[in-house]
Amino acid sequence: MSATKTCNIVACIVAVGESGASAAAGKVKRAVEVIDGAWAGECCAVGAAAEAVAAACAAAADAGAAGALVVAMADASETSVQSVLQILVHVKRTEPGWLRVVWSEEGSESAEIRLALCRGGAAMVTASATALDEALTLAGGDAAARSEDQGVACPFCGVNGFDELGLWAHVPLFHMVERNEVSGSRCPLCPRKRLDDPFPVHLFTKHYPPHLPPHEENAQPGLLYAFALVVVVRPVDGAILVVQEFDDQGFWLPGGRVDPGEGLAAAAVRETREEAGIDVRLTGILRMEFFPRPRYVRQRIVFLAEVEDPNQRPKTVPDFQSAGAAWATLDELRQVSLRGSEPLVWATYLSRGGRASPLSLLHEAGGGLPPGVTNDDIASYKTRR
Ligand SMILES: [Zn+2]
Ligand SMILES: [Zn+2]
Repeated sequence: MSATKTCNIVACIVAVGESGASAAAGKVKRAVEVIDGAWAGECCAVGAAAEAVAAACAAAADAGAAGALVVAMADASETSVQSVLQILVHVKRTEPGWLRVVWSEEGSESAEIRLALCRGGAAMVTASATALDEALTLAGGDAAARSEDQGVACPFCGVNGFDELGLWAHVPLFHMVERNEVSGSRCPLCPRKRLDDPFPVHLFTKHYPPHLPPHEENAQPGLLYAFALVVVVRPVDGAILVVQEFDDQGFWLPGGRVDPGEGLAAAAVRETREEAGIDVRLTGILRMEFFPRPRYVRQRIVFLAEVEDPNQRPKTVPDFQSAGAAWATLDELRQVSLRGSEPLVWATYLSRGGRASPLSLLHEAGGGLPPGVTNDDIASYKTRR
């Protein structure tokens, strides 16, 4: 064990491992090198870890620095994990303001071990020297920015003295994985307001530092314009259904904007009826498009469809939706004027044997399982605790 000071932080390093002190020391060497290489090479039991923590705590107080715990877990045996959990619980109780890190190859790769360590009190599980260095530097800065006699307390750990920016930096590093027990209570920075969001969401968005580049969560509420287009193919000759647009813009695919409360598939069928006078059955998905723009997002889906009734004739009475509709073969599409290239693009694609993706790609109402997966297959599904 060792206690060394870097960047306003005294990091107490303890090693835990079944395989003996030297193996543990070897495994954790990289963790320790980050701090300053002063690893003592002892394999720590829980009691010894408590002593090391107490010594580091005194050293931190002398130096006017913050403390951090780095438990280096040399293997992922049940015994080692249990020892690490006991050390984490001890430090969480005695030094609630310390950053608690577990250095573990296994823990940083296994979802199960990572979850156990985090639920036991680790704020961070890593086997990356760069990541450990970054976290300790941030934690040192966090402590240096606090002032004892002013500022607010962190609602997770109770540590005092944060200003708005300080709390904004502290909470994600120290408490990102913790249960959001703060929800429903007040934000220490704006206690007069009721929290409408979980506290971390509120902190991130409502207290976002003005000097940082704007984050999209804080930009204009994300406007989404969704459109459904339909390529309807006539089986006899492969002609596709085209709509004659207003203002002599030429022909285009039936389709339009999805109405509020409407699904993509429903919009496709509705627009084809309104603009082309044809009732269709959707049979596949040709393309899903997503165009992010600074102020809004345009999303388009292009369906493949067939007619419900081969005798139904395209619309001929002009109205606000369209001037009428017609069938056009690939040759005809090369001759007539088009509002956009899409009819020609998709007619060409299909004429060359292009296929559509299955309609089951689209799950508009949420829920439902993909083909071949049953409820039995996912019976072991667990939510937290
Ligand atoms: Zn805290
Ligand atoms: Zn607030």
